[in-house]
Amino acid sequence: MYKITVIPGDGIGPEVMEAALHVLEALPIEFEFQESRAGNACFHETGTTIPDETIKAAKNSDATLFGAVTTVPGQKSAIITLRKEMGLYANLRPVKSYPGVNSIYSDLDFLIVRENSEGLYSGIENETEEGATALRVITRKASERISEVAFNQALKLGKTKVTAVHKANVLKKTDGVFRQAFWEVAQKYTEMDASDMDADELYVDAAAMFMVQDPHRFQVMVTTNLFGDILSDEGAGLVGGLGMAPSANIGDNNGLFEPVHGSAPDIAGSGVANPAGMILSAILMLQFLEEHQEAFKLEQALLKVLKQGKYLTVDLGGTATTMEMAHAVREILNES
Ligand code: NAD
Repeated sequence: MYKITVIPGDGIGPEVMEAALHVLEALPIEFEFQESRAGNACFHETGTTIPDETIKAAKNSDATLFGAVTTVPGQKSAIITLRKEMGLYANLRPVKSYPGVNSIYSDLDFLIVRENSEGLYSGIENETEEGATALRVITRKASERISEVAFNQALKLGKTKVTAVHKANVLKKTDGVFRQAFWEVAQKYTEMDASDMDADELYVDAAAMFMVQDPHRFQVMVTTNLFGDILSDEGAGLVGGLGMAPSANIGDNNGLFEPVHGSAPDIAGSGVANPAGMILSAILMLQFLEEHQEAFKLEQALLKVLKQGKYLTVDLGGTATTMEMAHAVREILNES
């Protein structure tokens, strides 16, 4: 039995969450879903965007599913607080093409591993006489840790190359630390007995260009926080956009899984949101829980719905509602 904290959030968050839980419930796995609050509605009811009970529940679960929240200006970010409090230092963003989805490339399958805890998002900003500064914190420990995650993911996924992305020619000290840590970890994995693991590196500007021009060269990419944030959205753009993009936030003992999109206030309440990003995030959760067979089954069911093209949401060119698409996935699961 897995204890899963479920944070639906705002806008389309609860809509796509309902869809994901609907398909998870069809699997032969016992889940105890415990709903917790965060976000804008929560702020108006409780005075905080992320109550302590939610943090506690997430910390004490086997995993957390997070829908999406509407940002409340001037208030703590629910998701950044959760990432920090739960020690989720790795952000995994698959860049994967799916059939029936209008995308620039139809055959991509690589993973971006983004450092989630420091870099330019360390939150250390200061006003100065001339304007303001932000501190880019890069530690050896976090750089080694994220490089380990990247090589481990490569092994798990059957990939044979990890590419470090940085800007060590300009950010000599900070990215110098990141680069050195990467190569130390890389040495361990590439020189292991019978290893066919390879490692290379690219400057971030070149990496951004190659992602558009020659993305097949990538298998697993590992990078610092801001670069990873930007490149992973570029990755989502290559394979069909926000509605199709899942993510995992992983720490030593816990994981939080969320679609990349936000609360989409423009379509919230109309039941037309694409549930695929949330369902794919639930698949990443199943992989994290080592439920690989069920993860595979669910992905195949979603693939079939996408391929058939009969129950697709508006953003995918169809007319189905969020729950009609989820029902279609569940039907296939029930048949299998
Ligand atoms: P958004 O991702 O919510 O929406 C951008 C566009 O993509 C909109 O046109 C929306 O309708 C469309 N879209 C997004 N998800 C979709 C889906 N599943 N199916 C179909 N169409 C989809 O980004 P935004 O409009 O910039 O932000 C809205 C709110 O969400 C803001 O308050 C923002 O701060 C917040 N946000 C939250 C998260 C999060 O919770 N992790 C992430 C990003 C943005």
